[in-house]
Formats: sequence, structure tokens, C-alpha cells
Amino acid sequence: MRATSVRSTSAALPRWRLRFAFLDESKCLREEWALKTLPRAVILKRFATDLRVLLRAIDFGIGARKIALVARLTTVFPVSSALHGRQRRGYNKSSHRFSFCEHSCAMENTPTEKPNVVIVGAGFGGLEAAKKLACENVRVTVIDRTNYHLFQPLLYQVATAALSPADIAAPVRAVLSKWKNVEVILAEVQSVDVDAKKIKTTDTEIGYDFLILATGARHSYFGHNEWEKLAPGLKSLEDAIELRRRLLMAFEYAEKVTDEAARKAAMTFVIIGGGPTGVEMAGAIAEIARYTLAKDFRHIDPSEARVILIEGDPRLLAAFPEDLSASALKQLVDLGVEVRTGTRATNLTVGGVQAGNEFIPCRVKIWAAGNNASFVGKTLGTPVDRVGRVMINGDLTIPGHPEVQVIGDLANFSHQTGQPLPGVSPVAMQQGRHAARNILAMIEGRRPQHFRYWDKGSMATIGRNKAVADLNLVHLSGLPAWLVWLFVHIIFLVGFRNRLAVLFQWAWAYFTFNKGARLITRNFQAEQRPPA
Ligand SMILES: Cc1cc2nc3c(=O)[nH]c(=O)nc-3n(C[C@H](O)[C@H](O)[C@H](O)COP(=O)(O)OP(=O)(O)OC[C@H]3O[C@@H](n4cnc5c(N)ncnc54)[C@H](O)[C@@H]3O)c2cc1C
Repeated sequence: MRATSVRSTSAALPRWRLRFAFLDESKCLREEWALKTLPRAVILKRFATDLRVLLRAIDFGIGARKIALVARLTTVFPVSSALHGRQRRGYNKSSHRFSFCEHSCAMENTPTEKPNVVIVGAGFGGLEAAKKLACENVRVTVIDRTNYHLFQPLLYQVATAALSPADIAAPVRAVLSKWKNVEVILAEVQSVDVDAKKIKTTDTEIGYDFLILATGARHSYFGHNEWEKLAPGLKSLEDAIELRRRLLMAFEYAEKVTDEAARKAAMTFVIIGGGPTGVEMAGAIAEIARYTLAKDFRHIDPSEARVILIEGDPRLLAAFPEDLSASALKQLVDLGVEVRTGTRATNLTVGGVQAGNEFIPCRVKIWAAGNNASFVGKTLGTPVDRVGRVMINGDLTIPGHPEVQVIGDLANFSHQTGQPLPGVSPVAMQQGRHAARNILAMIEGRRPQHFRYWDKGSMATIGRNKAVADLNLVHLSGLPAWLVWLFVHIIFLVGFRNRLAVLFQWAWAYFTFNKGARLITRNFQAEQRPPA
């Protein structure tokens, strides 16, 4: 009484394809290669198992055409029982289904018999979970309100015209298309009914057997939501495009205006929040003003622009070691950024920012100060923390519902250090993989395992040849840190085209100081906003 699978691979795979298996992300191709290396005796033994399964299938009376196909595939390459032991012990133990490979992974011909894993959010955590579950004996449904996976760490480069939106986003369907057991739904999730095991989206309801919730976070204005229009944050592509528009428009306005005070305000940029995003934005704006735009205007000198970074804590990059905070401060000051630590922004108006005792007249304000978890977490009905993160168990599940796991920026996981893990992509990715492994374990009747974060360090870039990197044992600053940052960000960018495109544009910008994406696009929504 068991399900099994048969894969359409050739015993005589050409040599080039075997080599290619090393490079392909698909687990199945790697398995093909692994199988080719098995000793002949082991393969023969496994062939016998498949033959037994085939005879049993005939017993159960499946169609003659399918038997012929199964027989042909099984004879050509007996793989099922060898490599899909997990599938044989699968969720629906009472079904007797054969699987037929349509692509590079095994795929049952009756998908409804498999447990349905729904992943909400195709960000870092959700996408990683989906990849881990690809080719497994489950149905995976990925739901996201956008049709692309966004590489948020490079958003500031879109906001400062160094990269185009498409360089840092990859269509989710394209990323997951090669795995036939994964489907993608474009929809905004409104709530989760954990008792009914249903998700409500704007259009419909979707049931699940297992749920991974990974809807991330938005910025928070500490109760001053009216500031959002005055000082956009940087969380989405729309945010980045809007910030780019405001930055470039400020220089255009300064070029035209005759009033000296208005010109100065237009050329003053205030960034609120001295974490990695604030530091990156401040450095990038200073570089644009000093180098990229330096020769483009006739009535203003863009290099005279003031970039002011305000931080409420006594030091920048509070999550980094002190020596790296000090180094980041020095590198920013070298770029001409004015840094005000220990200073809080207490009021924002169209005309400027009240920072401590000082009112700074400025046209463009950027918010990089706080985060709130996605509202979806609150609909689970389990405890959330002050910023809306779901309090999860050590195995990433929520209390009373082992079939629901919450990961990434949406989760408060405090079981390792007593403090919540930071909202960074490695946490989300590791948790995504772990959640997927837990689901496979539960399907096999095993207990979900506790999660443990492997912290490989953190980085923040400041500008050309300027960055800080905390690699746990080693602290790097300046050029070495910048090179590490460059390497890591290229490696983790999703999609071959994106990597090449970004690498090329960075190389171009490095040698020419030119930023190619200096487009001011009209934003009809923004036009309803107060002038910025
Ligand atoms: C500007 C910026 C710079 C950053 N820099 C770094 C860095 O240098 N290094 C680093 O490690 N981390 C960085 N981070 C943090 C990192 O990006 C996050 O920790 C990571 O994205 C969290 O992954 P996640 O899967 O939890 O959520 P996300 O990646 O945010 O994904 C959430 C997904 O859920 C979708 N979604 C949200 N709500 C709904 C809904 N209701 N219905 C359907 N779909 C929904 C969203 O569209 C999105 O695709 C940065 C973040 C920002 C904003």
C-alpha cells in the first residue's frame, strides 16, 4: 500500500548532460548524476524493487498504456525506489499512484492526492521554502501580491538611480517554472483561518494542509502615519521609484528656482534612521551629488548639496560592533555626509524636519527608522510582539498549530539568544529551508526540528570602495569590505540575467561614476501628495 514514482531518464545519458548536472539547480538532475555513479549491483537491486512495484500496479489494474510507459521507463532507468524513498512513505499512504516525469522532477499524475503546502510571500523566506519543496511529493502553492521576487538589499540602488527596477526583481513564475509541483498565485492575502485551515485572499479562499507564512514587514512611523507621504520609506519597488523621482526632481527644482532659501532647501536631503538602509542611502545620495550630477547643471553646483543623516541612538549601525560603527561614521563624513547621532526627528512638515532643537529646512526626507511586521500575522490569533511579529515556537510553528510555520521578518524567534533574530535575508532564507524540511518530516510522521540560525555576519555599503563588514571573526572596512559586499550581493541576486546586468552596470558606474537609471517617471498617486 504505497505510492511510488518513475522518472524518464536515460541510462545512457550523454556525457555533457552529466556534467551539466553539476551546474543545474534542479535537485533531480543532480540525483540523476548521483545515480549514474552508483555501483551496478546497487542499481540492479533497485531495479528489482521497481519491477515488484510494476507487478503490483498490474494487480491493481491500471491502464495498459500506462503500464507500457511505466515498464519502458522503469526498464530504461530504475530510479523510483532508490531516490524517492521519502515519497514511498508519503502522506497519502492509501493511494497507489504512479508518477510520470514531465520535466526534470518526478510528478504524480494525480496532484490532488498530495499534501498541499501553501507558502504566502515569495520573498527571501518563501522562495527558499518553495525551492526546497520542489520535486518533493507535495503540492506547493506560492501566493504573493506581486508577481516578482524583490531583492530588497539593492532597493537603495534603484532609489538612487544606479540600477533599474528590473535589475533587482525576478518574476516568481519564471523562478519556479521548472518545478511542476509548484504553482504560483497572484493574490493579496487578507487573513488566515487556522482552525478551518483556509487562507482568505482578495478574490478567493484557499485551503492548505501545511502553511508557511512569510509576508515580511513594512516601515513603521511610530504612530505618525501622516509622515509617510512626507518621508517615504524604502520597502518596495514603488517606494524606490518614488524616492528616485523626488531626488532627481529636487535638483531640477533647484536649477529653476531663484529664491536662495528655496534652492538650499531643495538641495538638502535628510535621512531619518542610521541603520544599514539609512547609511546606504546617505552614502549613495552624497555620491550622486558629488560625482554623478556634478557637471549636469548650469545654475547650481550639485556637489554643494547637503546630505544629513539623523540617528536617535548614540551611534550609527547599532547592530554592528562599535569599531565598524565608528568606521562607517568616518567613511560617511569623508563623503561629505553630516551625521547627527543621539538626535531624534520629532516633527516632519512639508518644509523640513525638526531634529532635536534644530529645524532643518529640506525638500526631500527619507524614512529609514523603523519596521512593522505585515498585518497578516495578526490574523493568526496567536500572540504578536510590539511591532506585530508573530511569537513562534523553537521549531518555527505557532502554538497549537504544528501545520503553520511563520518565518522571516514576520516572525519573532527569540529561542537562540533571548533576543529576536534580526530582520535580515539570511535569517529568512535559513528559516524557509528549515520550515520546508519540517513539513517533509511531519509528512513522514517525524517531529519538526528546532531551528538554529547560523550567523555568517553582516555588511553595509556606504559608497564606492566604502563599506563595513562584520564577518564574526574578522571586521573589515573600506575596500576589502566593499569587495566582499559586491561579491555576496551578486551571488545572491536571483536570476542569471539580473546578475550579469547588475555586474555590468556596477562596473560601468565604477569606472565612469555614471548612473544610468536617472529617469523621472510620473507618479500619478504621488501627484496627489503634498509637494516634495
Ligand atoms: C531597503 C532594505 C535593505 C535591506 N538590506 C539588507 C541587507 O543588506 N542584508 C540583509 O540580509 N537584509 C537586508 N534587508 C532585509 C531583508 O530584505 C529582509 O530581512 C528579507 O527580505 C525578509 O524576507 P521575508 O521573506 O521575511 O520577507 P520579504 O522578502 O519582505 O517578502 C515578503 C513577501 O510577501 C509578499 N506579501 C506581503 N504581504 C502580502 C500579502 N498580504 N499577500 C500576499 N503577499 C504578500 C510581498 O510581496 C513579498 O514578496 C533589507 C531590507 C530593506 C527593506
